[in-house]
Amino acid sequence: MEPIIIIGTGMAGYSLAREFRKLDQATPLTMISSDDGRSYPKPMLSNALAKRKTAEQIAMFDAQAMAKTLKAEILTHRTVIKIEPTTNALELDDCSQQKYSKLILALGASPIVIPIDGDAAEEILSINDLIDYTVFRERLLDAKHVAIIGPGLIACEFANDLIASSDVRVSIIGPNGLPMDTVLPEPVAKELHQQLSDAGVEWYLNTTTKSINHNGKVYDLALSNGTVIDPDLVVSAVGLRANIALASDAGLSVHRGILTDTFLKTSHNDIYALGDCAEVAGHNLLFVAPLIAGAKALAKTLAGDATEVHYPAMPVAVKTPLYPLVITPPATDAVGEWVFEQAQSGFGIKGLFYGEDKSLLGFVISGDFVKEKQLLAKQLPDLIPVTIQIAE
Ligand SMILES: Cc1cc2nc3c(=O)[nH]c(=O)nc-3n(C[C@H](O)[C@H](O)[C@H](O)COP(=O)(O)OP(=O)(O)OC[C@H]3O[C@@H](n4cnc5c(N)ncnc54)[C@H](O)[C@@H]3O)c2cc1C
Repeated sequence: MEPIIIIGTGMAGYSLAREFRKLDQATPLTMISSDDGRSYPKPMLSNALAKRKTAEQIAMFDAQAMAKTLKAEILTHRTVIKIEPTTNALELDDCSQQKYSKLILALGASPIVIPIDGDAAEEILSINDLIDYTVFRERLLDAKHVAIIGPGLIACEFANDLIASSDVRVSIIGPNGLPMDTVLPEPVAKELHQQLSDAGVEWYLNTTTKSINHNGKVYDLALSNGTVIDPDLVVSAVGLRANIALASDAGLSVHRGILTDTFLKTSHNDIYALGDCAEVAGHNLLFVAPLIAGAKALAKTLAGDATEVHYPAMPVAVKTPLYPLVITPPATDAVGEWVFEQAQSGFGIKGLFYGEDKSLLGFVISGDFVKEKQLLAKQLPDLIPVTIQIAE
């Protein structure tokens, strides 16, 4: 019998393998990863400095330990370069072939690289795995001024972590007028901006990074508004894009992610997708809660009980302890209006987004209001509702 193969040993791949083994101990399982297969909680990459964690301390288990626990063969440092859906075969970068009965793509997402001129462009860091984090920590030892490109969620988390853990100067650069303003309504984005400023973050907003060149021990980082700043470490946090090339080259349907139905099935019968790389019934969600829900449903399907995934509303807690924040933004095309309440203590805002029929469609809560997360989440509509099976 050919094994089930999972490509990827990130949180999606390992969550699925764990869930599957709870239901089926016998079916052969193979996992393949370009990296070293260590199991780790990726969200910690943007708050581990303050916890004084090295990459080794973030990693929970190595590939060998995972293979034993999961009764799986785990091939590390091996990249799948081709999927042959018609023969259920994979080609690896060491020229070997693997046959599968079912294939699960848990390929993750990669940092978006924006074009920046200059002789130091290659030295801009992105932090998306344990190796990146190791390099980041090493480079920080000599750093006095860190510039972070992109004023989004991850940029704010890294800024908070740096401020909390060291005395480096932190600058954030981005084209928007306020941090996280694609997901935060203005009053909350302003408070976040204020809290991070009070803690020492320097902002270069409404501008972009044009070039980066060496200048002795620092960089000349030139912005499109004419300003030049002098960081000695530059981190890009402009976002991630689902890894879809392998699937698209194999003829699978892709859009922002690898397209699947609510069973996590791609456009090919024996191939499924899960985690950051998947676009499940129109949702390409790059955070943990959706992949956990997907792993539970798909494990049942693979064990013989076809199960659709259920996505309830899934609030995201932003890791900015200087300004605690929980967001569940309304859909981008939602029609309605925001209603705001300021905390009586003055620390925090509750922003509720109501649709035209007065139903709650999204919320953003900060400061003193974050404790209302569960209560509010229960009032939101599901993203993918539970399918009710009608007995015949
Ligand atoms: C800094 C940071 C902070 C975050 N904070 C939060 C948070 O607070 N809360 C939250 O919910 N989410 C957070 N996230 C998002 C969350 O971590 C991800 O959604 C999740 O870890 C994605 O897991 P994954 O397994 O889909 O992808 P990945 O972890 O990217 O794993 C992909 C795997 O696929 C393998 N792979 C890819 N291509 C191939 C190939 N061709 N052949 C073989 N192997 C391949 C890789 O080696 C890797 O093992 C954060 C992300 C980052 C980067």
